[in-house]
Amino acid sequence: MTPARTDDAPSGAEDGRVTERPCIATGRRRVFLSLGSNLGDRVAHLARARDALAALPNTELLAASRVYETAPQDVTDQPAFLNQAVCIETGLAPRDLLHACQEVERASHRTRGRRFGPRTLDVDILVFQGVEMDDPELTLPHPRMLRRAFVLAPLAEVWGWACGMPELDVAGLAAALARDQAVRPYDGVEA
Ligand code: ADP
Ligand code: MG
Repeated sequence: MTPARTDDAPSGAEDGRVTERPCIATGRRRVFLSLGSNLGDRVAHLARARDALAALPNTELLAASRVYETAPQDVTDQPAFLNQAVCIETGLAPRDLLHACQEVERASHRTRGRRFGPRTLDVDILVFQGVEMDDPELTLPHPRMLRRAFVLAPLAEVWGWACGMPELDVAGLAAALARDQAVRPYDGVEA
């Protein structure tokens, strides 16, 4: 599917504020996820991830940001990443969604080597409507999201879909981090 953009966002939410109007008519909850890839056909891995998320049971893909290219951060001797943020609405429970995301990673032949090392596909859950939790398997909101421009710059584009989320100035935080962290929209031409 063609990624939806923030211009499709619910009216009144363009500045990143959490919209007050009810947006859940089906018992589903809104969730933001971050996709990343720095091995193989990076664009294809992101596209497959979007399609796989959209095909999950009782789940709809509402919006996807542009794709960004970012220099690796924690482990710097590895290829550049492509990153994208998406918003879904799902009836899945948080842990079931995490396991589904891990299955999507495995379908892209993700292997787990060095922490923060290269990967064909990384699918992280950033914010899950109405859920705060902290255990070894799943922490929500994602514990490192506010430190990473490669998460926040794409997220800012789709944050207009937020519903029942923490009040966050995602665009402002992204702009501040982007002063020190190289992140730019990807033009589709491999370097
Ligand atoms: P990272 O995404 O931090 O680079 P991994 O993708 O290898 O690293 O994930 C490591 C572990 O993080 C996973 O086994 C998963 O159980 C855990 N985890 C905790 N919170 C989250 C979250 N919000 N989204 C995705 N994974 C999470
Ligand atoms: Mg991950």
